[in-house]
Amino acid sequence: MATDNKHKLATRLIHAGVSPDPSTGAIMTPIYQTSTYVQDAPGEHKGYEYARTQNPTRKVLQDALASIENGKYGLCFGSGMAATDAVAKLLMPGDEVIVSNDLYGGTYRIFTKVFANYGIKFHFIDMSNAENIRQYINSNTKMIWTETPTNPLLNIVDIEACGKIAKEKKLLLVVDNTFASPYLQNPLDFGADIVLHSATKYLGGHSDVVHGALIMNDAALEEKLRFIQNSCGAVPGPHDCWLVLRGIKTLHVRMQRHCENGETIAKHLRNHPKVGKVYWCGFEDHPNHAIAKKQMRGFGGMISFTLKDDSLDATMEVLKKTKLFSLAESLGGVESLIGHPASMTHGSIPREERIKNGLVDSLIRLSVGIEDVNDLIDDLNNAIG
Ligand SMILES: *Cc1c(COP(=O)(O)O)cnc(C)c1O
Repeated sequence: MATDNKHKLATRLIHAGVSPDPSTGAIMTPIYQTSTYVQDAPGEHKGYEYARTQNPTRKVLQDALASIENGKYGLCFGSGMAATDAVAKLLMPGDEVIVSNDLYGGTYRIFTKVFANYGIKFHFIDMSNAENIRQYINSNTKMIWTETPTNPLLNIVDIEACGKIAKEKKLLLVVDNTFASPYLQNPLDFGADIVLHSATKYLGGHSDVVHGALIMNDAALEEKLRFIQNSCGAVPGPHDCWLVLRGIKTLHVRMQRHCENGETIAKHLRNHPKVGKVYWCGFEDHPNHAIAKKQMRGFGGMISFTLKDDSLDATMEVLKKTKLFSLAESLGGVESLIGHPASMTHGSIPREERIKNGLVDSLIRLSVGIEDVNDLIDDLNNAIG
């Protein structure tokens, strides 16, 4: 049954955008595996002409994503990076963007290695105090781009404070909400203009699909981005849309367990005699914990840490020894993953730049899954020794 934004999130996760298939009553949205649609006469059709432009499975997912992010419009892409690419294509040569300096390596790469070549300038800055943004704004600035919590250091950026600056200076505020997912945080409510997701992560949730999404409220902005989606063509296939649609139906129950397990493991690591620093935004002494509490409903299952022995050898031992935590890139799936940001997810950021921002070679990142937390703790203890 279709729902609307009056319903609570748990209800919208399951029902938003979805209605029984009119031709059969199928409760699950069919996978419309088609490239084109038959017209009665030229231009006489049911709203679908060609599948790059429109697909019914994709439309249901786009509507569902809009609803769960408290937005009006959703647009889906073949990956999180394709969604990033679409947003960057709103820019023109000479434009400038202010970007948080602790962010997904692929985002850094597309900005510095692709869009910088088209004459767009990116300032990577510390946004832990949003007021830092002001000194980089000039007449060419068009966009503020941030990620919170950040990947991999779990820093928190004040979305509301960024939103105020963006509004005052007429800039677009883009928030990559991949780490929090719509269950923990809705950036549009705090003044973001565009929310970006790598749906590959928590939204899909089962490590079986690569997918990206944008959500917004402004009709003119949606029209521009939909034009780019169709013109550039980085659209997801209907099967991938269906997998994400299926994934989000359990987002709330999965995220609850990710949060519980994350908290238990973050606290355990902090008390572990061989562990150095633990990064998790739920700690009360996290520098921006108050902001995290203001804009998030929970603190998630992403944790980074270092060992007291911060040699690369000791770090590598842990990465090799865990059994339940699989050594892999990506995050947000039901199974726990362990990773080495310096050589894996953030390998595309120059070492100097990385280390300046606190991403040291000995940092280990965990995506805590929804297995039994005692088994996960035993696994970490065995690996840490
Ligand atoms: C994975 C990720 C992306 C890129 O998404 P893909 O689906 O891999 O293209 C962007 N931002 C964040 C925070 C990510 O973790």
